[in-house]
Amino acid sequence: MRRVCVFCGSRTGGPAYVEAAKQFGAALVRHGWGLVYGGGHIGLMGVVADSMLALGGHVTGVIPKFLEARELAHRSVQELHIVDSMHARKALMAEKSDAFVALPGGIGTAEEFFEILTWRQLGLHSKPVAVWNVAGFFDPLVAWLDHMAAEGFVHPWDQNLLLFENDLETLLDKLSTARSENVTPTDSKPLIPDS
Ligand code: AMP
Repeated sequence: MRRVCVFCGSRTGGPAYVEAAKQFGAALVRHGWGLVYGGGHIGLMGVVADSMLALGGHVTGVIPKFLEARELAHRSVQELHIVDSMHARKALMAEKSDAFVALPGGIGTAEEFFEILTWRQLGLHSKPVAVWNVAGFFDPLVAWLDHMAAEGFVHPWDQNLLLFENDLETLLDKLSTARSENVTPTDSKPLIPDS
């Protein structure tokens, strides 16, 4: 089974984000994707997991032992992995997934997302990394990435590593295509960028 790893908030934000998280879970089930996520029963991550489970979707949670109580480890998922550290959590989530999508969230979401995008930039994996831009939430991220590129800190080629979509169906179509093409972008990338 193909699995999408979702990074999203341990808080819910406003009602529009809760609704979006439910839609996201339903769309994953419709498109035949399983879910890999942080394993909690709180925030947007809990909403995505619950919406998938209600529709018969497959959910894998990965939670560090010290967060088991704080993030209310979700006991109804089909697979729950309890690991020793945040690093082990991210490594296992990455290993078990075929693609990565960020939904709205806070500092933890940003950290997880940037790490997996960095690994892609370094050629450590070739799986698609995407952002679903719910209600323009990630517009400032795009502006920041553009600024990094304009100031010479991000190679223009690497800017294209990120799939950025406002429309959910288009996003999932792109994930399926990117996956089936098995893109290996960094293979042909110069080791020393020209700018
Ligand atoms: P937040 O976006 O801050 O609500 O966090 C979303 C999720 O990311 C929560 O499940 C956090 O436990 C998780 N998280 C935060 N920091 C890290 C980290 N360094 N490694 C792995 N997961 C993290």
